[in-house]
Amino acid sequence: MPSLKFAVLPGDYIGPEVMSAALRVLEHVARQENLQLDWTEADVGGAAIDRHGQALPESTLKVCAEADAILFGSVGGPKWEKLPPKEQPERAALLPLRKHFTLFANVRPGLLYPELTDASPLKSERIPDGIDIVCIRELTGGIYFGQPKSTTTLPDGDIEAIDTMVYRKSEIERITQVAITAARARKRRLCSVDKANVLETSVLWRKTVSDYVAANAPDLTLTHMYVDNAAMQLARDPNQFDVFVTENMFGDILSDEMAVICGSLGMLSSASLGARNNSHGRPFGLYEPAGGTAPDIAGKNLANPCAQILSAALMLRYSFGLDAVAARIEAAVRRTVTAGTRTGDIAFGRPSVGTTAMVEAIIKQL
Ligand code: NAD
Repeated sequence: MPSLKFAVLPGDYIGPEVMSAALRVLEHVARQENLQLDWTEADVGGAAIDRHGQALPESTLKVCAEADAILFGSVGGPKWEKLPPKEQPERAALLPLRKHFTLFANVRPGLLYPELTDASPLKSERIPDGIDIVCIRELTGGIYFGQPKSTTTLPDGDIEAIDTMVYRKSEIERITQVAITAARARKRRLCSVDKANVLETSVLWRKTVSDYVAANAPDLTLTHMYVDNAAMQLARDPNQFDVFVTENMFGDILSDEMAVICGSLGMLSSASLGARNNSHGRPFGLYEPAGGTAPDIAGKNLANPCAQILSAALMLRYSFGLDAVAARIEAAVRRTVTAGTRTGDIAFGRPSVGTTAMVEAIIKQL
C-alpha cells in the first residue's frame, strides 16, 4: 500500500476549519484507493507564535523536512497585526518556508466553473464556459531577490533606490520544465510572458524558453506575449491561455489578476514546487489555498473548504504522482458545486450550506 507522508500546517482562523475538511476528503479517497496516509500536524503562523514564540518553530520545520509535501492552511490575522512587520505570521512563516525548501515554482489554476460566472467581475458573455487556465510563476528569482538592492542619499541630496532583476538560464530552464509538465497534462499550449522588448532578463527568458521547449517538448505549441498585453488579454479573453509561464514579479501581478477574474477566493488552490525531489521521485511541494485566513467568517462554519480540498488534490498530483485520484477529487468538487450545494461565498443569494455540509456533499460525490 503506497504511503503518503506529508506535513499538515493548518495555521490560523479558518485555516484549521478548511484543513480538517481537506483531511476528511483525503481519508475518504485513501480508503477507496488503498493509500496509506502518514501525516503529522504542526503549528505555524499566529498559532505557533502563541505556543512557541515564533511563526515557524524549528519543530515545525523538522516535521516539514521529514515529509514529502506540506499541506498548508493560511496564517495571520488581527490578533498578531501589532507585531513588527518582520514577525508577522505571513512574512515570518511562509517566506522562510519558500526559502528553506527552494520552492521556485508557483502553480496556480485559474478555475471558474460556468455555473459560477456571477462571481467574476468579467461579463458572463465573455466567459460562457467559465475560466480554466493555469499560471506558472517563478518564485525565487527576479527583482524581489536580485542584488544590489539599496536606497542611497546622493551627494546632491536626492535619494536613489535600486532593485536588480537577475535571471540565470538554469533558473529559467527549471521553471520551463514545470510549465511543460503542466501543459502536457492539459491542452499542450504554453504561452511565455515577458518584456523582451525592454528587459535583458526577458531577452534571455524568451530565448531560453524557446530553446528548451524546442529541445524537450516539441509536442507543445509555444507562444510568447509581452506582459502588458498579457494583462489586457487576461481581462479580455482569459481562455485564450491554457498554461502561461512568467517570471516572479510579472507572475505576482498576473496571478492576482487571474484570481480576481476567477471570482471567489474560496475556490482557488495553489502549489509551490521545490527544487528537490521527494522520496516518490516527485517535486517536494507546499500546497495552499489562494485566500487568507478570513477572520470575518472564522469559527462560524461558513468557510468554503473547496480551495483547501483542491490544494490537497494538487498535492496528490504533483508530489505523489496520483493524477487520477487528484482528478477524481477535482471532479467531485465540481459536481457538488454545479449540483447547487454551495457555501455562502458562491451562493449568490441562493440557499447556502456550512463548511461541514459542503464537505459531506463532496464526500458523497466521491
Ligand atoms: P482573506 O483572503 O483572508 O479574505 C478576503 C475575503 O475573502 C474575506 O471576505 C473572506 O471572508 C473571503 N474568503 C477568503 N477565503 C475564503 C473561504 N475559504 N471561504 C469563504 N470566504 C473566503 O484576505 P484578508 O482579509 O486580506 O486577510 C486576512 C488575513 O489572512 C491577513 O492577516 C492576511 O495577512 C492573511 N493572509 C494569509 C495568506 C496566507 O497564509 N497565504 C494569504 C493572504 C492573506
